[in-house]
Amino acid sequence: MKKKYVFILALIPVFLFVLWKISRSRTFQFFGEIYPRIETGQKVVALTFDDGPTRKTARILAILHRLNIKATFFVTGQSLAENEAEGKQIVLEGHQLGNHTYMHNRMVFKSFAFVKSEVEKTDSLIRRTGFREEILFRPPNGKKLILLPYYLNQTNRKTIMWDVEPESYAEIAGNSEKITKHVLANTKPGSIILLHVMYDDGEESIKAITEIVAGLKQRNYAFKTVNELLQYRQSVTGNSTHPNVR
Ligand SMILES: [Zn+2]
Repeated sequence: MKKKYVFILALIPVFLFVLWKISRSRTFQFFGEIYPRIETGQKVVALTFDDGPTRKTARILAILHRLNIKATFFVTGQSLAENEAEGKQIVLEGHQLGNHTYMHNRMVFKSFAFVKSEVEKTDSLIRRTGFREEILFRPPNGKKLILLPYYLNQTNRKTIMWDVEPESYAEIAGNSEKITKHVLANTKPGSIILLHVMYDDGEESIKAITEIVAGLKQRNYAFKTVNELLQYRQSVTGNSTHPNVR
């Protein structure tokens, strides 16, 4: 084999590794806007929950009501279709719904038609709950590569990731005290906190909500939905794009 081809072949694993890194990046995608957090000096933060809605929704809503904060729920179309009343209740109580695809597949190496249907079907179901604000998107497992960001950008949708994810550490997940400690230590102005509370393995995360909120409020943080948080984005000059927002 010619030297040139050997060189190209040797580069394939490197190329695939780079693609894999990009597919899971929280800060970069090939097309459109992606936010792991919001750049702001103000002490605002968003609490976000992935998956569901499930039968646990009412309990979670009761906790949020007691704490008097609004959160953002990235739901799947499939769960929303099965639990429409829970979805409506989330909206009725002033929380935000976001799109987390219909079936929760990893959205890499999927056809354009599949990407489109996953996004659109879920948005329609979200609209049926009565949610009227901008619908933000969060990819399942944080995975996206080419067609998904391309489609989201074409249709003016923002990708929302996170910068605080306590459950991603094996030694922290499943222990409410450790979850709380991690969140309090890693949250900064504009942070987007991710918790999974919709299934049985989320019980410790549900338990952690109260302490997380108490701890951050004590540190003078205000809780916002992600749509609200986006209003705090700083422009190049360092001013908030919407200085009147508090
Ligand atoms: Zn998910």
